[in-house]
Amino acid sequence: MRAAKIFQSLDSDSLGSKQPGELTAYLGHIVSPTGPESYSDFRCGAMLVDAAGTIAGIGPWSQLRQKYRSVRRIVDFGKRLLIPGLVDMHLHLPQITQIGRSGQSLLGWLEEYIFPAEARFLDSAHALRVATWFFDELVRNGTTTACVFTTIHAEASEIAFRVAASRGNRVIMGKVMMDANAPESLSEDSSLALHQSEELCRRWHGHDGGRLLYAFTPRFALTSSSNLLSGTGSLWSKFPGTYLHTHLAENQEEVLLVKRQFPGSRSYTDVYQSHGLLARNSIFAHSIHLDQHDLTCLAETKSALAHCPSSNFFLKSGAFPYEQVKQVGVSCGLGSDVAAGPGLCLFGVMKDAAYMQADLWISPAELLYLGTLAGARALNLDQKVGSLLPGKEADFLVINPGRKSCIQADILDRTTDEILSSLVYLGDDRLVEATYVRGRAVYQVDEGHVESQRQRKAGAADMPPAVYPTAAGLK
Ligand SMILES: [Zn+2]
Repeated sequence: MRAAKIFQSLDSDSLGSKQPGELTAYLGHIVSPTGPESYSDFRCGAMLVDAAGTIAGIGPWSQLRQKYRSVRRIVDFGKRLLIPGLVDMHLHLPQITQIGRSGQSLLGWLEEYIFPAEARFLDSAHALRVATWFFDELVRNGTTTACVFTTIHAEASEIAFRVAASRGNRVIMGKVMMDANAPESLSEDSSLALHQSEELCRRWHGHDGGRLLYAFTPRFALTSSSNLLSGTGSLWSKFPGTYLHTHLAENQEEVLLVKRQFPGSRSYTDVYQSHGLLARNSIFAHSIHLDQHDLTCLAETKSALAHCPSSNFFLKSGAFPYEQVKQVGVSCGLGSDVAAGPGLCLFGVMKDAAYMQADLWISPAELLYLGTLAGARALNLDQKVGSLLPGKEADFLVINPGRKSCIQADILDRTTDEILSSLVYLGDDRLVEATYVRGRAVYQVDEGHVESQRQRKAGAADMPPAVYPTAAGLK
């Protein structure tokens, strides 16, 4: 379906009431999803951002410049696209080293590549190196909000939070918990797992005005005892605003094993529900092999699904029931699921979301919506991020499709639908010229290194003292 364009009226409410002297005007072609099939569209647009990183006004520059005559800080991106930052609902920090390791189904792939890679995070120096690489790569790929699995290691998880705090990423993250059917090097006592998770949550949830949020993260039912799952449910309920993040029904073999491990449960979804894990702020990655009853439960409990089509393609896990999910009304967005997904850039995931639906056409506008506003809505963060509106925090990207081969040179002069189509079918990290979180540049293509250094220094002063001095001293 062709996307409808909504040209916003410039009434005083939409312009906000910040003092002009505090504002920066970012000029460009501003496109921001307003729903699955609609977006706001301002060619020669302007976004006014205050010193705190909040959007004060947005609309055609020809009109805004009248209201904000005294604005001196003007950043003109010309015809380049300004879009909301991308929201990745599911990926694994330690697995970035394992992208492209092919040749196994889910469970074999975990045993051969992933579990050994995660076991290395006992080494804090390795954990710091990979976390730094990971969070820099996220913003390089345009992801401003990410829901992240770490490993079972509390120290490595602490390091991950510290790096995200200093780099400027917005994350929902948690220490992985596993106390069953895992290699000895990744198996832990359930009480210790819960205790360490609680400590990390108390320490990091809500850091920097809510930029860092905590997710209790049992890996999946197969690597969890009933004791761990029920303990997670109890713990989660003690911390309002935190998240529950796990995997659900990714693979047929996994579903059969879960049935054997939890014979009293009606379904895989019921395993989680019976342990108190289906509720607002729960995130279930994959969620492919579900029946109508499962979907209804997920909708009624306001649970959210992370659709990971690139990963599902790679591991031949099956096709996400996108139409049914929409019909039942379960919230969902996109996840790269690195490293089963082969890349961090959500433009590629948008393309795969379209390719994985054999009989369904998903418009480029809807694909962009899935990777931005839909994800923010699923995470209950849409009051802050996911689209560009006055009052929201200015998480946005500067996109130049001309940086990639095979995109026609005059693409930015074409219709917005054509630009979006190029973006979702041909886009990758090369298109991202700059990434802003809360109005602050966390990546710029020409000054990426300089910017990273600046961020590191700025963030360091904000960080609480290190729990693990050995890790804090490593660089
Ligand atoms: Zn995953």
